[in-house]
Amino acid sequence: MNFDVDGAKALMDITARPDIVFVKGSGSWLEDQNGKRYLDMIQGWAVNALGHSPKELVQAITQQANALINPSPAFYNAPAMALAKKITENSCFDRVFFANSGAEANEGAIKLARKWGQLYKDGAHKIITFEHSFHGRTLATMSASGKAGWDRIFAPQVDGFRKAKLNDIESVRSLVTDKTVGIMLEPVQGEGGVIPASDEFMQALRQLCDDEKILLIVDEVQTGMGRTGQLFAYQHSGIEPDIMTLGKGIGGGVPLSALCAKEAVSVFEHGDQGGTYNGNPLVTAAGVAVFNTITHVDFMKTVQERAQQLSQGLQNLSNQWGLQGERGLGLLRVLKLDKDDAGKMVETARNLTPNGLLLNAARPNLLRFMPALNLTEADLEQTLALLNQVLAKHRDS
Ligand code: PLP
Repeated sequence: MNFDVDGAKALMDITARPDIVFVKGSGSWLEDQNGKRYLDMIQGWAVNALGHSPKELVQAITQQANALINPSPAFYNAPAMALAKKITENSCFDRVFFANSGAEANEGAIKLARKWGQLYKDGAHKIITFEHSFHGRTLATMSASGKAGWDRIFAPQVDGFRKAKLNDIESVRSLVTDKTVGIMLEPVQGEGGVIPASDEFMQALRQLCDDEKILLIVDEVQTGMGRTGQLFAYQHSGIEPDIMTLGKGIGGGVPLSALCAKEAVSVFEHGDQGGTYNGNPLVTAAGVAVFNTITHVDFMKTVQERAQQLSQGLQNLSNQWGLQGERGLGLLRVLKLDKDDAGKMVETARNLTPNGLLLNAARPNLLRFMPALNLTEADLEQTLALLNQVLAKHRDS
C-alpha cells in the first residue's frame, strides 16, 4: 500500500508522525501498510488495557452496535448503569458521570469541586495541583497541569491553580488558603516521567484535606483500571479520595472516561453537567467488557507478575549497559538512560527489522513502557531482547 501523501497533508500537523500507517492490531502486535510487525509498548498511550482488538471488546461493541448505539444521555441505558454499578461496587465512590476523554472527566472534576465550594466552602474555588503534572488539553486542564511552558501557550490561563511539589507536603500546606477547595494529583505522574507519589504523601494529603475540610481529587486517567497492579492506584496507600477521574484503559481503546465521586460531593444539579455522547451504550458496553476482564480473579495477579518481569528486565539492562536504573508502579515504568538520547532510541527501536518495537520517550532521558495489561511473558521477553538490540546500537559494548 502506498503512503497517502495528500491524505497526510490534509491532517492538521499537530505532531511529528513517521510515514507509517498501521492497518491491523492483535494483542501486543501492530502491523503496518507494508506488513511489517511491531511489538507495541505504547498501546494507544496506555489506553488499550487488553491489547489491540481483544475478542471481548470486539464482541461487546459488535453486539451493542447491532442493538442500540445512542438513545441520548437524557435517557437511561443498560450498559451505562451496569458499568457505573461495577465502578461503585469496586471503589470507595458512590456516583459516576461518564465522559469521552480524560480531559473532559477532569474538567468535570474541577466543576464539581467548584460547585461543592459554592455550596459548602463559602465560594472557595482554588485547586492545588503539582509541578510536572498532566491533566489534559482543554483550557482548564492545561491550566491545572504543571507542564513547563503551558502557562504561556494559550494565555491567559484559567485562574485558580497553584502548583506544589510532589512528595513535599509542606509545599502543599503552604499554598492552602480560605479560597482553596481541593488538591488534585496523579497518584503516579505519567507524562511527567512516571513519578509515583509515595504512600506517606498520599496519606498526608488525605489528612491535610480532612483538617482543612477540602477535597482530595485523584486523576487516575493513566493509573486507573489495573495499570499499577491494583484496580485503582489510590488503593496502594489505603486512603479514600473524594473524587476520582478515569480514562484511557476504561474503554480499552474506545473514547470513554468517568468522573467518580462520593455521595456527599455529588452536588451537580440538573443542567450543571452533560454532553451529547456521554455514557452512550456503545462505549459503556466496551467499558463493561474491559471491567469484567480486569476484575476476573486472576487478572491482577498476572499484571503484578508481568510488572515484576518488566521491572527486573529493565534493571538487568540498566546494569548491563551502565544506565540509571528504572522506576514505576505496575505496568507503567520508565528506563532511566545515562544521556538524553531517548528520542533517537525510539526511532531505532521502530526501525529494527524484521520486527520493530514501539516505545515512548517520556523525557529526553526516559523510555516509557505502558504495555497491554495482559501481554504475554513471551512478548515481554521479546521486548526486552529488542530493547537490548537498541541499546547495543546506541552504547559501546
Ligand atoms: N490525565 C492524565 C493523568 C493523563 O495522563 C492524560 C493523558 O495522557 C489526561 C488526563 C488527558 O486524557 P485525554 O487525552 O483522554 O484527554
